[in-house]
Amino acid sequence: MMENTEDKLTVIAGGCLCGGIRYQVNTAPFDADYCHCIQCQKSSGAVFQAWMDFKLDQITWLTGVVTEYQSSEHVSRGFCVQCGCSISYRDDRYPDYFTLTIASLDNPRLVKPTYHIHTKNQVSWLNITDDCSRYENERVK
Ligand SMILES: [Zn+2]
Ligand SMILES: [Zn+2]
Repeated sequence: MMENTEDKLTVIAGGCLCGGIRYQVNTAPFDADYCHCIQCQKSSGAVFQAWMDFKLDQITWLTGVVTEYQSSEHVSRGFCVQCGCSISYRDDRYPDYFTLTIASLDNPRLVKPTYHIHTKNQVSWLNITDDCSRYENERVK
């Protein structure tokens, strides 16, 4: 999933547009994906969202507090109440995991998604020519 060397990833930091929320992680994410679902489109204001998955205890919040919006029965999406930046995603059925937006990293090039989900909902004018796995709905193993 990672490009180049892992030593660049000893600490990766990110935050929202206004800087009110800052976080860091001391490891590479264990997974990363593009999601084309309607919920991700609406919450990000973009045609897809790029996500990276961590264990909850791998994330250190340096400043600010993520405000959460419960977007479905089990899912809460976190954003900055000041600038609106989409920061996080969590599913209460998986309380040990916490997902962050790749675009909130100071250097989003450090994390490369490896698969697309909910491509059934991908906008028709977006041409993706990467060789990542594609799933029409959720990922199936
Ligand atoms: Zn902000
Ligand atoms: Zn989604």
